[in-house]
Amino acid sequence: MVSAHMDEIGLMITHIDKRGFLRFIGVGSWNERILPGQRVIVCAGDVKVRGVIGAKPPHLMTPEEKKQVLEIKKLFIDIGATSYDEVKELGINVGSIAVLDREVVRLGGTDKVTGKAFDDRVGVASLIFALKLLNNVKHEAEVYSVFTVQEEIGLKGATVSAFAVKPDVGIAVDVTTANDIPEVDEKDWITVLGKGPAIKVMDKGNISHPKLRELLIKIAEEEKIPYQLEVLPGGATDAAAIMVSREGVPVATISIPCRYIHSPIEVLDIKDAVYASKLLASFIRKISRDDIRKLSTLL
Ligand SMILES: [Zn+2]
Repeated sequence: MVSAHMDEIGLMITHIDKRGFLRFIGVGSWNERILPGQRVIVCAGDVKVRGVIGAKPPHLMTPEEKKQVLEIKKLFIDIGATSYDEVKELGINVGSIAVLDREVVRLGGTDKVTGKAFDDRVGVASLIFALKLLNNVKHEAEVYSVFTVQEEIGLKGATVSAFAVKPDVGIAVDVTTANDIPEVDEKDWITVLGKGPAIKVMDKGNISHPKLRELLIKIAEEEKIPYQLEVLPGGATDAAAIMVSREGVPVATISIPCRYIHSPIEVLDIKDAVYASKLLASFIRKISRDDIRKLSTLL
């Protein structure tokens, strides 16, 4: 089973006031600091409405308030409406979803791009590209590609799909932190952009199966695919859920380094994503039934 999650962190409308302003909560984990000043799209079925996240202006704040981070409950979405009824007529209601309004653009003339929700749309794209690379290629493994949902609120899609698929081996494709930026000590970088995908050793969700991890490393070296090793103190991927399904499954994660995860300006290097696809495709092409049997009995 290879898995990448389709969902992104978002916002959910909790209240519409009589002047048409919307209150919301976060769906998934947000850094509240980055929300004020963002443009959003409020989704009501097929209707998509633009809005902005507003907050009390700084010159009206007390010195004490200015020092504090604005909590989500102090923020609101302004869609330009003037009444509760106007909002309801658009089809927006309590429970409507909003997402950041942000396009993907290239940074300068580089292979780096910026946008929102690379977590984990880049994993989805890399998995699809890996499948394309495997078109007409013979392999022994029977592959189930799963594009999961509700990863950001606790790996729900991977949990139930792993139960249904009953995989012998699980691989998640997701982003990981690249802290290779100013103000962060080199020992805390986790990964670096442009140095290839990371083969995860451990994160907060699980420890990758050592033999599976070694197999990925061996294949990366054979195929001359650059890679990094990743130990991430926080975060988890679909692999954590697949691992504990039924009697347990050997799992690993192929990570794509990404700066500023869970923000509207995530940054990644396209080369890392392409190499992640190549690593996954090579793994699927090379893993034998015998390898799979050995991995399963080593649990
Ligand atoms: Zn995420």
